[in-house]
Amino acid sequence: MDETARLLEVIRGRNAKTVGLQFPVGLRTKAVDLAREIEEAAGVTCLVSADPSFGACDVPEMPVDLIVHLGHAPMPHLRYERVFFYDLPGPALESLAFVDAALPLLPKRVGLLTTTQFRGWLPKIKEHLESKGHEVRIGEPDRRVAYAGQLLGCDYHTATAVAGDVDGYLYIGTGDFHPLGVAMLVDKPVAIADPERGTARTLADLKDRVVRQRHAAIARAHDARTFGIIVSRKTGQARMELARDLKGLAETHGKAAQIFLMDLVAPEFLEGYRVDAWVNTACPRIAIEDVLQYKRPMLTPQEFEIVLGQRAWEDYVFDEIRA
Ligand code: SF4
Repeated sequence: MDETARLLEVIRGRNAKTVGLQFPVGLRTKAVDLAREIEEAAGVTCLVSADPSFGACDVPEMPVDLIVHLGHAPMPHLRYERVFFYDLPGPALESLAFVDAALPLLPKRVGLLTTTQFRGWLPKIKEHLESKGHEVRIGEPDRRVAYAGQLLGCDYHTATAVAGDVDGYLYIGTGDFHPLGVAMLVDKPVAIADPERGTARTLADLKDRVVRQRHAAIARAHDARTFGIIVSRKTGQARMELARDLKGLAETHGKAAQIFLMDLVAPEFLEGYRVDAWVNTACPRIAIEDVLQYKRPMLTPQEFEIVLGQRAWEDYVFDEIRA
């Protein structure tokens, strides 16, 4: 049964009259057609959410009988109510040439990583690498990730779980977002085999640039007197306890700190506050990816500890949400 047929069954089973659809940016082109298809097949009214949809950490309430969330696998530890995760079929694996392009970059013992989109390819790629003499490990999922080898931008369990058994990683995917976190977190080489370009690359240069940016953010925050600690309202990003701990830590170091509660963290919503630097406990990637958008330093919790002198730079840790 395909996903639309499975969804129609759920709509009928729940006697839903209204259905909300949530799409990440990359799938917006499908929104109009899918909404029309569901309306015609199920006799329901669809509401397409035009709010940003960043991950399974963020499945906002909608005034509907059933929410359909696309593009992300559910986070096993979260309780979702009235949510159908529409599992789009990944593309077919037509050639292994892009994996072969990565062979010169790989050590003998390799951890294999990807995102939900390409998860179905991992067994075949593992077999292929083994036929080339590699020992391959695929980390098991945990509370926040649903599939073996799956990475999130905020959870690298499937990489760290096998770190002791591998000398480097091969990421199957198109962008740098997910493998960058592995390169920052584990001191082992990370290669990317990109199925769209059909090529392979390493991440060393990007990692160096990001490390320099993090150094700069920490240095700029050094003389800050008042910190704003951001807490997200999104269910899978909310770290209030951590924020309270950081506020307490700031105060023991003679710094002022206030907690700011918000949904979408964006530069325009942080304008006007008398805050010298921000500490972000929401999505860990905001401080990394959006660094150039913020006028004031935006730190991760661990970077804030470095600013306060609680942690040495040598003990730098990339922020993760490990529920
Ligand atoms: S917290 Fe950030 S990186 Fe993690 S799933 Fe949500 S949007 Fe993605």
